[in-house]
Amino acid sequence: MKASFKSKLFLASAVYWILLSYILAALVFWFIALNRQVEQMAEHKLSALILDDPTYLSKYEKIQEEKKRKHAQYTGEGATFLVLTLVGALFVYRAVRKQIKLQQQQQHFMMAVTHELKTPIAVAKLNLETLLKHQLDEAKKQKLLSMTLEETNRLNTLANNILVSSQLEGGRYRIAKEEVDLSSLVQSAVQDFINRFSSRKWITHIQPETDLSGDPLLLQILVNNLVENAVKYSPKTATIEVRLSSTTKAVILQVIDEGPGIPDHEKHKVFDKFYRIGNENTRTAKGTGLGLFLCRKIADDHRATIRVTDNTPTGSIFTVSFTK
Ligand code: ADP
Repeated sequence: MKASFKSKLFLASAVYWILLSYILAALVFWFIALNRQVEQMAEHKLSALILDDPTYLSKYEKIQEEKKRKHAQYTGEGATFLVLTLVGALFVYRAVRKQIKLQQQQQHFMMAVTHELKTPIAVAKLNLETLLKHQLDEAKKQKLLSMTLEETNRLNTLANNILVSSQLEGGRYRIAKEEVDLSSLVQSAVQDFINRFSSRKWITHIQPETDLSGDPLLLQILVNNLVENAVKYSPKTATIEVRLSSTTKAVILQVIDEGPGIPDHEKHKVFDKFYRIGNENTRTAKGTGLGLFLCRKIADDHRATIRVTDNTPTGSIFTVSFTK
């Protein structure tokens, strides 16, 4: 699949550059030919002049002037064509590149989704079959059940991310505007994570009674995705901190981790659809590149901003600021 994609890309680039070169060469050829024609016409007219004619000088000047005017006209037209062609070519080049990149990311996304869907289903199936077929002691049963629950949680997040982002993008999701107790929402979302990942170190600073007008389901997805990433992209021994505070002007949610952080040049890109840092061979964490895209969309829909900064000594701080 990758080879055919590369050959398609090569073919498209080759056709593009050949066509562009042809157009530019034709333009230059047209410019030279027209200017030569102007020279020939002027020469022809000059040779028809009679030296003894008393109006010779004025006719001579008129011919020279017309020659100059024609040269200027063709230079102007040529330059305009050149600029328009180059702007058009740049536009097409960028649009095609964007399209190709999106197509490539979509392909990776489809592969990632297929994998992300199949793995939890396979694990859950195997665990349930083991529970049915074998008489296990209580501790083993609990372990298998909690592993199955963990996999279904992952499936749930994935399904939510895919469904909600496609509905939000297609304008089919009606965003609720209701009074949300953000403190309780964040507290219970984080508590779920603390239960799931009880061996991790957690710090929470959640200012009570912080309310907001918004959509509870979307806000929950936002919090879940940020905390999920903090868990996914930081070492098992590292601390994860969640803060919620409120000022007179804004409500601020922060998810802070001690992972590798995000390089400066990737800080904007991570919010793009399907964007994942690194390439298929270097990535270890599973994902689809939809989580942060959805977070930004949800923040936008709540008149909030989302940004990522560096934690010290390492890690990321994701800050969502809701204006009151
Ligand atoms: P996914 O996690 O499914 O790949 P996201 O949209 O949630 O997609 O994140 C996009 C990319 O941003 C991830 O692939 C990862 O490389 C990077 N990223 C997100 N959160 C963090 C984090 N807390 N620390 C380091 N990198 C992160």
